[in-house]
Amino acid sequence: MILILNPDTDKNSAEYRRLMDHLNNLPEIQVRVHDEVGAQRTLTEIYLIGDTLPLALNDMNSLPCVERAVRVTEEYRVLGRHKDDNRPTYFDYNGVRFSQDTLNVFAGLCAVDTREHVEIMMKALRDNGQVCTRMGAYKPRTNPYSFQGHGKNCLPYVFELAGKYGIRVIAMEITHDSHVDEIRAALQQTGNPTGVMLQIGTRNTQNFELLKAVGRQREFPVLLKRGFGITLEESLNAAEYLASEGNRNVVFGLRGMKTNVGDPHRNFVDFAHVPVVKRLTRMPVCIDPSHSVGSRDRAPDGILDVQHVTAQGVIAGANMILVDFHPAPHKALVDGPQALTLEELPYFLEDVRIAREAYEKRRALAQGAASKKTAA
Ligand code: PEP
Ligand code: MN
Repeated sequence: MILILNPDTDKNSAEYRRLMDHLNNLPEIQVRVHDEVGAQRTLTEIYLIGDTLPLALNDMNSLPCVERAVRVTEEYRVLGRHKDDNRPTYFDYNGVRFSQDTLNVFAGLCAVDTREHVEIMMKALRDNGQVCTRMGAYKPRTNPYSFQGHGKNCLPYVFELAGKYGIRVIAMEITHDSHVDEIRAALQQTGNPTGVMLQIGTRNTQNFELLKAVGRQREFPVLLKRGFGITLEESLNAAEYLASEGNRNVVFGLRGMKTNVGDPHRNFVDFAHVPVVKRLTRMPVCIDPSHSVGSRDRAPDGILDVQHVTAQGVIAGANMILVDFHPAPHKALVDGPQALTLEELPYFLEDVRIAREAYEKRRALAQGAASKKTAA
C-alpha cells in the first residue's frame, strides 16, 4: 500500500509524528519513506510493505497528513500504474521533460571514437534543433578483443562539446558503478555544461548490484534497456529495483529480443510493447530502432527498415528514440553498419514528426470516441 501525503508535509510536525508512530506499530509491516523534491514542492510517499490486506483504505485515508491511500495490487509498487493512482508520469532533468506524453530524440554515436566526430555530430544536432544525444564511452562488447570504448578519457571533451552546442542530456551506458563517479567527476571538472542519462544495457538488465548502486543515486536519471532474452515482467522488475532504491526517474527502453525468429533483423523488434509498458507502469518508454534492426536495409518503398520500425514505435506512443548516427559510418569503431548518416538526420526527424502527428491524431480520435460513449 502507498500513502501519498499532503504536499509539503512538515516532518517535524506533531501530525507527522503521530502518523509515523501509528505506522511503526502496525504488526508485520515495514515502512519506507520516499521524498520527491520538486522545484515547487516536496511530495512524500510512504510505502507499507508486508501483509497490508487487513488495513482498511478508509482508516488509512483518515490518518493525519495522508492525502490518499492507494492499494498496490501489481508487482511494480513504485513504478507501476495502480488503480486510482494519479501520480505523475513525468520527470524533468536539466530542462528536458521525460513523460508518457512527450517525445525526445537521442540521435548520436553508438561509441565515441574521435573528438572530431563528436563535434561534427553535436553541431549537426544543434543545427537540427536537437538538445539530446547518445554517446557511448563504456562499451560492453561480445568479443573481448573488440574496441571497449574510450572510457573516462573522452568524457571531458564530450561534455565540453555538448555544452558548446547546447546539448542538455547525453544518454551514456555504464557497465560498473565506478563509471557513475567518473561521469560525475568529469562533469564537475568541466563546469557541468550538460546532463547525463545513465544507460543500463541489455546485457546488464539483471545485474542487480549495478541496479541497486545506480538506484541509490538520484542525481542522474536512468535509461534501462529491456533484457534481450528475458520476459517483459522480469525487465520491469529490474526497473523497479532502481526505483525501490530511491531513483524513480527511469525510462524503459525496448531494443528488440534475441531470437532468430526476427531474422534478418539483428533482433526481433518488440515495439508492440510500447503501449503495454505505458499501461503497466508510469515510465516513459524509449525505442532503440538501431540495435533492433542492426542494418541499413531498405524496403522496396525506399524507406530504411530502421525508419520503418521507428515510425511503428512512435505511432504507438513511444516517448524517446535512441538511434545511432555517425558522420562516417565506415569509420565507426562500433555498429557502423546500422548507423544513419548526418545527411539523413533532417529526413529522419521529419519522418518521426509525421509518425508523431499520426499518433496524436489517433489519441484524439480514441479520446473523442470515449467521451461520446460516456455522453450517450
Ligand atoms: C547501445 O545502446 O549502445 C547498446 C549496446 O544497446 P543494448 O544494450 O540494447 O545492446
Ligand atoms: Mn551499439
